[in-house]
Amino acid sequence: MEKMDKHELLIDGEWSAAESGETFTINNPTLTTPMAEAALAGDADVDRAVRAARRAFDEGPWPRMLAAERARCLFRLDALIEEHNEAIARIETLNVGKPIRDSRAEVGAGASCFEYYAGAATKFFGETIPVAGHGLDFTLREPIGVVVAIVPWNFPFPMACWKCAPALAAGNTVVLKPASLTPLSALYLGRLALEAGIPPGVFNVLTGPGSKAGTALVKHGGVDKISFTGETATGSQIMALAAADIKRISLELGGKSPNIVFADADVERAARASVLAVFGNAGQDCCARSRAFVEQSVYEEFVAAFIDETKKTVIGDPLDDATQIGPLVSMAQRASVCKYIELGQEEGATLAYGGDVMTNGELAAGSFLRPAVFTGATNRMRISREEIFGPVLNVIPFTDENQMIAEVNDSDYGLSGSIWTRDLDRALRTIRRVRSGVLSVNSNSSVFVEAPFGGYKKSGIGRELGMAGLANYTETKNVFIATGETS
Ligand code: NDP
Repeated sequence: MEKMDKHELLIDGEWSAAESGETFTINNPTLTTPMAEAALAGDADVDRAVRAARRAFDEGPWPRMLAAERARCLFRLDALIEEHNEAIARIETLNVGKPIRDSRAEVGAGASCFEYYAGAATKFFGETIPVAGHGLDFTLREPIGVVVAIVPWNFPFPMACWKCAPALAAGNTVVLKPASLTPLSALYLGRLALEAGIPPGVFNVLTGPGSKAGTALVKHGGVDKISFTGETATGSQIMALAAADIKRISLELGGKSPNIVFADADVERAARASVLAVFGNAGQDCCARSRAFVEQSVYEEFVAAFIDETKKTVIGDPLDDATQIGPLVSMAQRASVCKYIELGQEEGATLAYGGDVMTNGELAAGSFLRPAVFTGATNRMRISREEIFGPVLNVIPFTDENQMIAEVNDSDYGLSGSIWTRDLDRALRTIRRVRSGVLSVNSNSSVFVEAPFGGYKKSGIGRELGMAGLANYTETKNVFIATGETS
């Protein structure tokens, strides 16, 4: 076996092993083989990292330097990420199973995030307020302090950048904890942050299990804010733990997003565009449009066009430029998705296409799964209510708009969704009625670094990206200066 890369923890500007000396193995899901080892952080390492971040916040230059200086540092990091795009993308693809062209785009999006917030650092300011008192009243936007960023395995690099870029731009210090399945791109980001000149202690990276290192970070008294992306159940536990110290939290959680197709839409176009909106990233996407509500009169046409397009998607080696769908992140994740495919059939939906594990040729070793399309599903079925986090679409017919909207909203989640129609009034009416943080009309693009992203209901609290994302990492201080006037 080839010698595996060994990765250490980034704490206070230096790389070090875990105090216990323990490590864990990171796998390549395409070959199901080990590809690297990382230090397994324990309580002592969590404490070291938080203390370093605390010192850097309380005594170090980062929160006190001119916003323009912080911005220069972050612009350097943006440029370094772009310079290393291919290397980071390759690591991400090997570690996550993500098609290389998606990885390149996601690394580019991560770089753009640093570019955007580097620019925003000098354009985010308070207000002067005409209060009922003689004097000057104004607000300051100040950093919150030590931010813990906990990210999942489905979009490891961009999720890390969504949190770290605004947190750093606002003057906070950060401890980043990547998912244990996919920590390699976050460690690479740590290396580039040092090269960009981010001072020691300002940006720390800890690898280790969420159940231990993650919990220890959330409970640590030296932490001011937790920014988490992951499962709703984990978010709920974090929220409960954070309550003890009234820590600030933002949560980006699960989704079960609708894809609403009205009969007047360009059905062919909607069907073609909808395939990667649910099967992209092998369906492991919080925004996956996994419930298609299709008006009865175009239901057959949509299903036929959707399946036809699905058959054309290239499933294969994620390092191949042509590949559109790679393996799932692990065999365990595939097994979990397969259980839902069985469940859907038991619940009475028709498996109209796919859903079989792929055992042919070079795909046999990896956790590949052919995307599954269920027809005749209802919104009451568990496959329509629970986040499957794999390539499974349920197509649900509707005839009555009001009833369809009620079903769309009859979900624990409210993250994303699409509406397909040529009727502007209908589009605007539907936009207002769907309870979701992000929507797109005649498109599946709903994530832009300049625009707020986040969920209603159990899909989360707070917004990332855009100026709302920066506000999430600041406190507002109101100041009144009396001017001595008496009337
Ligand atoms: P998890 O909630 O299992 O894990 C997410 C992160 O939290 C990982 O780093 C994990 O560490 C850590 N973690 C796990 N348990 C705890 C804990 N008790 N305390 C602190 N940290 C913990 O989610 P997944 O990694 O399985 O990610 C998939 C989920 O993420 C899906 O539900 C998806 O919808 C959601 N998601 C939401 C997005 C959004 O913006 N709304 C975007 C992308 C994904 P470890 O890996 O070591 O267990």
